[in-house]
Amino acid sequence: MERTACEECGGKIVRRKVDYIYLGENLGKFECDICTSCHEQVFPEKVFNKIENVAKEKGLWGLSAKSKVGQVGNSVAVTISKKIADFVNLKKGQEVNIYPQDKRKIVIELK
Ligand SMILES: [Zn+2]
Repeated sequence: MERTACEECGGKIVRRKVDYIYLGENLGKFECDICTSCHEQVFPEKVFNKIENVAKEKGLWGLSAKSKVGQVGNSVAVTISKKIADFVNLKKGQEVNIYPQDKRKIVIELK
């Protein structure tokens, strides 16, 4: 099913190849429907399947993980999965900088 008008603003849709960035890595150029008016980008479903495959090949897929908050002394502790730790090359004993980005996000910055 080809989209011809933008669902957001009714603008004209053009199909172009654009870079797809996932977790900071460029997965390559993929066909994308772009609204000429509001510039909303929508990747067609079949293209998204291709993107998913490339992400899987690069070991980038499935890095998001649920974790329960535990407690160590007066502090709370969150476990980081091996997959995520390996992806960012995080090792035991390494020093990191932790700060809240906003009320819903905490950033762990590797040095
Ligand atoms: Zn639009």
